[in-house]
Amino acid sequence: MLKSTRLFAASLLTIALAAPAYAQSELRAEIAADYKTNLAPLFDYFHRNPELSHREFKTSERLAKEIRALGYEVTEKVGGTGVVAVMKNGAGPTVMIRADMDGLPVKEDSGLSYASTVTQEDIDGKVKPVMHACGHDTHITSLVGTARALAARKDQWKGTLVLIGQPAEERISGARDMLADGLYKRFPKPDYALAFHVAADRPSGKIEVPLGAAYASSDSVDIIVHGVGAHGAAPNKGIDPVLIASQIVVSLQSIVSRSIEPLQAGVITVGSIHGGTKHNIIGDRVEMQLTVRSLDPKVRLQLLDGIDRVAKGVAVSMGVPEKLMPEVIRSKTETTPPTVNDAAAAAIVKEALIKGMGADALVELPPEGMGAEDFAYFVTPELGVKGVYFAVGGTPVKDVEKAPSHHSPLFKVEAEPAIKAGTEAMVIAAMRLLNGQ
Ligand SMILES: [Zn+2]
Ligand SMILES: [Zn+2]
Repeated sequence: MLKSTRLFAASLLTIALAAPAYAQSELRAEIAADYKTNLAPLFDYFHRNPELSHREFKTSERLAKEIRALGYEVTEKVGGTGVVAVMKNGAGPTVMIRADMDGLPVKEDSGLSYASTVTQEDIDGKVKPVMHACGHDTHITSLVGTARALAARKDQWKGTLVLIGQPAEERISGARDMLADGLYKRFPKPDYALAFHVAADRPSGKIEVPLGAAYASSDSVDIIVHGVGAHGAAPNKGIDPVLIASQIVVSLQSIVSRSIEPLQAGVITVGSIHGGTKHNIIGDRVEMQLTVRSLDPKVRLQLLDGIDRVAKGVAVSMGVPEKLMPEVIRSKTETTPPTVNDAAAAAIVKEALIKGMGADALVELPPEGMGAEDFAYFVTPELGVKGVYFAVGGTPVKDVEKAPSHHSPLFKVEAEPAIKAGTEAMVIAAMRLLNGQ
């Protein structure tokens, strides 16, 4: 007894000497205990029971139930299957934390003992295998852990918390659906919005906070090239849309190389091109499908306007009359702006994470590819909401190089370190922003 009391006194002294580490280790220990008791079984449930975009019925129900039990005021069916949980705690900033809920139509081949075997009817009426092949199950599990830790710390922050379970991220439509259903009108509009994505190409549990762009913009564009049909042996009698389309494909690649500042990033990919029916017939139509990516709103517009200019300019140069000009159609649904972090808020969060979790919990790695995210809609400049989106690694460091990519049937992450670190980082980030400067 005496021995343990002395030990206890000694450990108190150690804690007192290392004051800043105390709160950190307390939070970490609390999350570890929560993981063991609540979050591990919850993750197991979510992983085994993934649901497709717009079909997150059981997922949203379970998420709502878990968070409601913690004392939040929870509203379901916002923008389809979306969940909004609010906790008001006096005057102060409003901080929103978003987790996306949907799985993908992929047949899981991860080899995990808790792999999904479920199928579900998709919005097109077809029954498909479903898998959490992007790791959104770690996001919603962590949201519950974050909700619990922040509710338990109500005496340490002031303001309003809004936690959301977002549907249909994989269709780039869930964020817009929630906003259209009054997310920022029926519920407190946030000053800050936070989210994280688990990353298979980052070491497990390591956090990365970009100070600028976190995700690219993505726009689907269709080009319909019109021509005048003729015999293949008499091209002078028609207008050949295959030749015009070919020139357009080549000229499009001059937009990134000649119009965009050399240190800016941009991608224009023609993913599909279809036209004609037979060797000796000049057709009258070619259809092209493009994806356009950028990391900056201005560059995005330069690329999209450049596509209009090139398509029309090439047609003019090849003698196409005004009434047969190519149609360039920007998709209204397959479109998302770049997710750009608010530099000042991201710097504050980063500093708080270094202080709270230790400098070695953070990594800075070169950006990977030009993937897109619809979180961008919550933080577009017009809305005046400052966004901070960070990544949380999910692959043992030795396997990072060869980790299967997101959306692959082989995709898997180490859930435990990712959920624990994601939760700890989110709690620290939210408390820092709620508590102001
Ligand atoms: Zn995804
Ligand atoms: Zn994702």
